[in-house]
Amino acid sequence: MAQKRYLFTPGPTPVPPQVLAALAEPVLHHRAPDFREVYARVLGRLQDVHRTESEVLLFTCSGTGAFESAIVNLCSPGERVLAVSAGSFGERWAAMARTYGCEVEELRYSWGETPTADDLRAKLGAIDPVSLVFLVHSETSTGVVADVQSLAAVAKDAGALAVVDAVSSLGAVPLEMDDWGLDVVIAGSQKALMAPPGLATAAVSAAAWEQVERSTLPSFYLDWQRTRKAQEKLDSAFTPAVSLIVALDVALGLLLEDGLESAFERHVRLGRACRAGIKAMGLELFSPDEDRAAVVTAARMPEGIDSSDLTLALRERHGVTIAGGQGELKNLIFRIGHIGWYDEFDIATALNAVELVLGELGAPIERGVAASRALEVYAEGTPV
Ligand SMILES: *Cc1c(COP(=O)(O)O)cnc(C)c1O
Repeated sequence: MAQKRYLFTPGPTPVPPQVLAALAEPVLHHRAPDFREVYARVLGRLQDVHRTESEVLLFTCSGTGAFESAIVNLCSPGERVLAVSAGSFGERWAAMARTYGCEVEELRYSWGETPTADDLRAKLGAIDPVSLVFLVHSETSTGVVADVQSLAAVAKDAGALAVVDAVSSLGAVPLEMDDWGLDVVIAGSQKALMAPPGLATAAVSAAAWEQVERSTLPSFYLDWQRTRKAQEKLDSAFTPAVSLIVALDVALGLLLEDGLESAFERHVRLGRACRAGIKAMGLELFSPDEDRAAVVTAARMPEGIDSSDLTLALRERHGVTIAGGQGELKNLIFRIGHIGWYDEFDIATALNAVELVLGELGAPIERGVAASRALEVYAEGTPV
């Protein structure tokens, strides 16, 4: 019999059965009325989820593709930009901007640190002006969720646009594009939006559209103006992943039907439960022990055991996929994602599996307490 699979990573994430069922429907033609109806609804729902009146451009690509679209549509060769990095994704955006010939300043933290508005203000005060500040809302490599509202406010004070990577945070933790004055918000289908990988979004403010006018880097497939014109007529520029869009429509419908507030509350409780379970097992948290860190929980490996041994044994022996560490944290931490279609029993299962395998690998951990502690904490709810 096929082994049962459990997906506990911060992307891709489990997909609800209604969304999977939508993927099995006959393929629609992208210029036919039945698809246009879905396309219009998805674009509207994406605005609701991004909390914006601005256009949300939808691309068939991974989250990185949408981020690349931001760089090629906003920048010119030699463009002065600042990347705030405290992990893998912040560093990726700095590297990408350099690839396109931007002059990249970096406010660089050690992996796992939380960027602050004061540091950003000091950095911007000490360098020549930049036109863009790249921010990561949820740094999935470390579990840190930054206060992008205050970071973006500092960027705007300095006359720069705030470009935000919200790939793993959108739909999991609060993000208010318009109220917080965010200029560009990038997201992807495969994280808290509960759809498979393959679609990504770039929500673009009026100020960002002005910057697009000034940009001279070339773009074609990822060109924002071409995409906007096409979306206005519900006539996508190229053949989009129609079946993924049909599935995303169902997933966004589920998310909005329950309400974003309810999703945010559930994620806070899941984060609390997961951290409580990790601590009960006797492990040390790597990600911050705070409600905002509701996307992924990262824990340090016990002395002498590599996280690759843990993740391998979990997958091969038990069909359970969790994430190890990336980059400089490889083998030092493991990460349990808890976003999207996820509940307290997923947390309990993930903790039980980690506990079992760590025991097998000889770690001195407390057995039989993590899952029950997690369920207890989940049941406490969220005090207002
Ligand atoms: C998943 C993720 C991305 C995008 O990754 P892709 O693999 O290109 O979809 C970008 N930023 C963050 C913070 C992420 O978690």
